[in-house]
Amino acid sequence: MKDPIDRLIRRIRDDYQATATTTGLEAPSPAVEAALRHVPRERFVPGDLVSRAWDNTALPIGHGQTISQPFIVALMTDLLALDKDSRVLEVGTGCGYQTAVLAEMAAQVHTIEVVPELAQAARERLRELGYTRVETRVGDGRAGWPGAAPFDAILVTAAAPGIPPALPEQLRPGGRLVLPVDSGWQAQDLMVVTRAQDGGLQRHKVLGVRFVPLVPGQNPPATGETD
Ligand code: SAH
Repeated sequence: MKDPIDRLIRRIRDDYQATATTTGLEAPSPAVEAALRHVPRERFVPGDLVSRAWDNTALPIGHGQTISQPFIVALMTDLLALDKDSRVLEVGTGCGYQTAVLAEMAAQVHTIEVVPELAQAARERLRELGYTRVETRVGDGRAGWPGAAPFDAILVTAAAPGIPPALPEQLRPGGRLVLPVDSGWQAQDLMVVTRAQDGGLQRHKVLGVRFVPLVPGQNPPATGETD
């Protein structure tokens, strides 16, 4: 599998260069590249799409949902500015690929998925692959995960009309929220929202992107459904 990974990394580097004027990032960080090399992406795609697992594209995973494009996974992860001690919340587990990339780089990942079947499959897959520092929950991620807050970083992998208010409230001061926000018909801006020490929010548009929508769902039970 070495060649497909090398080719994918080259494509991702090309995409970083092509978008550097708006993202401010010339190349993926070494830590993100290492994580992408380590996570077996072929384990996160449906069986009939395994041959395309290392393409730099989004792919369907069932339930009308997708596994995100590797370049976007890399970029969003870099924008979170994680370190080994970071505690991260992800909204939109999907197949769990981005969750695994986050788990490679951070101390702990909490992840919420609204489609129970996807959440269950991702939970089993992540456990089989040995990602023990991941907590999963079924529910509406727009409410965040108050019981585990504050987080150093929050990542939303589905698009909302605006910033769900509960999410920046669950960031520690200095923490970052990265999310796609609707900017027009089927178009979104990837945004970085930073919580200042005084609690104020700084918003920064990074790139035009396309994600599946963030949909309403049941709020998680008070105790959560965790591993
Ligand atoms: N992180 C995934 C991307 C999944 S696509 C990856 O690594 O490829 C976005 C996911 O967000 C979908 O699985 C969708 O079901 C989920 N989603 C949509 N609305 C949601 C909500 N309100 N709360 C939690 N998850 C949601």
